[in-house]
Amino acid sequence: MFGAADEKALLARDFRTLMPPDEAKRATAFFESLFVSGEPLHGVEHQMYRGDGSVFWVSVSVALLRDSRGSPAGVVTNIADISEQKRMQEQLITSDRMASMGMLAAGVAHEINNPLAAVMGNLDLAAEAVAKRAETLGLAAEFSEVLEELHDAREATGRIRNIVRDLKIFSRSGDDEKKDVVDVERVMESTLRMAWTEIRHRARLVKNYGKTPLCEANESRLGQVFLNLVVNAVQAIAEGSAEKNEIRITTSTDETGHVIVEIADTGDGMTKDVLDRLFTPFFTTKPRGVGTGLGLTICQRIVTEIGGSIDVKSLVGKGTAFLISLPPARPGLSEDKQPVSPRIVAANRR
Ligand code: ADP
Ligand code: MG
Repeated sequence: MFGAADEKALLARDFRTLMPPDEAKRATAFFESLFVSGEPLHGVEHQMYRGDGSVFWVSVSVALLRDSRGSPAGVVTNIADISEQKRMQEQLITSDRMASMGMLAAGVAHEINNPLAAVMGNLDLAAEAVAKRAETLGLAAEFSEVLEELHDAREATGRIRNIVRDLKIFSRSGDDEKKDVVDVERVMESTLRMAWTEIRHRARLVKNYGKTPLCEANESRLGQVFLNLVVNAVQAIAEGSAEKNEIRITTSTDETGHVIVEIADTGDGMTKDVLDRLFTPFFTTKPRGVGTGLGLTICQRIVTEIGGSIDVKSLVGKGTAFLISLPPARPGLSEDKQPVSPRIVAANRR
């Protein structure tokens, strides 16, 4: 537990030298109270040092031993390593916080939507009125600057609307389980817009969309899968040489009619050891605060629920590719539920 090479030397040490100074003070007080009250103490949490100097959590219980006359004759101490429990607890708190953030984001997105629609509508009306007035007065040149400004403002509000829509896709909570027919390309575009600020410092983004059928899935959950994989790809690439690195998104249809989505990066790649444990909950090679080790576990669960599968190829130093296979929507569904005509989808994407 203490990572000591020499057991005898460890036993000869004052246990307080195995603790950070503040903790040692606490431990001293803790033993003093034991001698004063004589009451055993259970499960007191402390930090201690391992052999390599790193700090870990222990749970300590102590009881007083007495001789035949009832005077204190010694102390029995039980020290258990609880660092793994502590880590799990922290992860749970983090995912809990993420969930509340998601709900908050959904709420905010909802609140922004209505006033935003009003702003967009009014900008359209104003631009129309100015254009008409300019024309009747024969002042087109004089008004062109104002019209341009209105046009820019309208474009910027369009971008806000996209962000708000993305937030809603990713944080939708109430109808989480509802399945619908979705266009994987549209969901991917949404994901990439969200992750763009992270991507652009690390890699070029290459998109290779093939013709794919609609899939039957929950849009926000599928978006979460894509986002997790894209963020992993980003995190596998060191910052600074964006022109030398690539994140490549490819969609295609295989011979069985399944949609194949590939997310490939030119990052660090993975060793066999990492590949074996990839989908294990809480498995992460990232520092605390960066990784939770839950991303791929969640991805796998969501993809399996949809009836798809997830596969990975990786080479150390070369990069990684995740392949998701998704079944196409059942024929009846995709025909009469085709949500928007292809032309409108294309226009929305801009
Ligand atoms: P997290 O990202 O929080 O660490 P994940 O479940 O998303 O958790 O990933 C688990 C581990 O798999 C990561 O810590 C990393 O070691 C490895 N991994 C995942 N995706 C990639 C990738 N694209 N390139 C290299 N390693 C990856
Ligand atoms: Mg991850």
